[in-house]
Amino acid sequence: RGGQVDREIPFAQPGSLTRVYAIASGKGGVGKSSVTVNLAAALVAKGLKVGVVDADIYGHSIPRMLGVTEPPTPIDDMILAPTAPSGVKVISIGMFTPGNSPVVWRGPMLHRAIQQFLGDVYWGDLDVLLLDLPPGTGDIAISVAQLVPNAEILVVTTPQQAAAEVAERAGTIAVQTRQRITGVIENMSWMPCPHCGEQVDVFGSGGGETVAEALTRATGTKVPVLGQIPIDVRLREGGDNGQPLTASDPDSPAAQVLIGIADKI
Ligand code: ADP
Repeated sequence: RGGQVDREIPFAQPGSLTRVYAIASGKGGVGKSSVTVNLAAALVAKGLKVGVVDADIYGHSIPRMLGVTEPPTPIDDMILAPTAPSGVKVISIGMFTPGNSPVVWRGPMLHRAIQQFLGDVYWGDLDVLLLDLPPGTGDIAISVAQLVPNAEILVVTTPQQAAAEVAERAGTIAVQTRQRITGVIENMSWMPCPHCGEQVDVFGSGGGETVAEALTRATGTKVPVLGQIPIDVRLREGGDNGQPLTASDPDSPAAQVLIGIADKI
């Protein structure tokens, strides 16, 4: 650290009014980042001030999903987080790596990066800060637990039992760090058949409930399933175009579930 004094992390101070949620998943590709950006946009639509830290160091995709292209601005010895068109403030490791170069940092550097995202970024007064964690039970989840012990956990899974088992392992990290698990979000729960509209359980069913029950047993506190998000092509397109569905088409069924989750947290 070269004698540098770490700034206090405002979100970790007693009396901080910012609610911090870490969004976790057992494995990649279950929609953790999609859920994060859509929740963020839904919370902004409710009139809240919202920031997102893209802590998914190896798979950073948040700036694209939120349509942020501008780099962060240095002010004095801090950094100003860019604001997405939806009004969400966002910082990502991708903003600090040239081009699309891969990040090959090891644990201590990742810890330092998260610490700086939390302590050296000028966020202003936030009502909610969402942290998009990398998949799995890795170093970063533990870093977040150390840096912001009051951060609560949202676990994202698909209905598939195999996914549920790894999601449960990701959730049990929170049990060890004594963080509160706000609930489980099941994504890709079903798809309306384009011909007859009937529900197709593409990835099976029950994964969210399985994880919620396991985490309820592990914590001794009721962990609810906060919502079941259907597969929706427009949700994927919104991610590719940088326009979260909860902002561009809040009345669509998938957006309605996500808005319902934003109302519960
Ligand atoms: P993760 O962050 O868990 O790796 P992503 O959010 O990047 O997952 O989602 C993986 C892919 O699946 C992305 O292309 C995303 O657009 C798509 N996707 C996620 N959730 C849904 C959904 N409910 N309906 C349609 N596509 C989805």
